[in-house]
Amino acid sequence: MNLKKHTPTFLFIAIIVFFTTSAKAQPARDNVDWQRYQDMAVKLMQQYLQVNTSNPPGNEIAAAKFLKAIFDEHGIQNEIFEYKPGRANIIARIKGNGSKRPIILASHSDVVTADPSAWEVDPFSGEIKGGYVYGRGALDMKGEGLLHLMAMILLKKEAGALSRDVIFLATADEEVNNEGALWMIKNKAELFKDAEYLVTEGGDNLRAGDSIKFVGVDVAEKAPFWLQLMATGEPGHGSRPIADSASNRLVRAMARIVECRHRSRFCLPSKSFSKTLRRYRKNRGGQDLRTSESH
Ligand SMILES: [Zn+2]
Repeated sequence: MNLKKHTPTFLFIAIIVFFTTSAKAQPARDNVDWQRYQDMAVKLMQQYLQVNTSNPPGNEIAAAKFLKAIFDEHGIQNEIFEYKPGRANIIARIKGNGSKRPIILASHSDVVTADPSAWEVDPFSGEIKGGYVYGRGALDMKGEGLLHLMAMILLKKEAGALSRDVIFLATADEEVNNEGALWMIKNKAELFKDAEYLVTEGGDNLRAGDSIKFVGVDVAEKAPFWLQLMATGEPGHGSRPIADSASNRLVRAMARIVECRHRSRFCLPSKSFSKTLRRYRKNRGGQDLRTSESH
């Protein structure tokens, strides 16, 4: 997260939730001390990154407890579900008047592993360097999870009556088996199944100043294509090189897979997405346009 570049937009998601949930259409209020929330967000971001939830093994219970303490401090109803030792989801809710269906702010609290020798700073330090917060998960996706948390705090403290429930959900194990989200769907769906909207990672949006040019909507993601290879070849003693051994054939087969290039085929949503992107590329006025990322 680049604090220098994005300072005015840091709480953008919080403002969006303000607009979409207030019982009366109200602009973000002038008397909100945005600087205080900005500082709080940076501090909490650093602390969240310091919670090591490398997956495997995950240990997302530590993240759930970290978030719970903040929700408790601000009087926001919440619950942790530890579905197996050390693996936990957390859900929190701010009630609206029910005139609209809920919105879910969904994130995952685990991160992929980090090799400290490849980092300029300790990957679990949350250190600020040159205007950036460094940490494994700053982009994927504790940064967004933190914005969801800030949106909850702002709504609770500043928004007044809401037209819909706002549900915060941080799940475990997104990076490996997605057990956390699947467990919630299987065991606790009644807590969120009537929601109208869900905001999560992916589908980047494009803004120009204060106006939103488009909202990216994910319709699919890349999926793994697992291959199981088995080779047979000439048997013999390992001390003797055998050109056509099973292992050599296997290596050659894998090299062919690595070199294989597929022709891209565009389905209908990706065609329409590319068409829209082209329009904005022409007049983007210097603003970077991020396209699809891996999550
Ligand atoms: Zn992610």
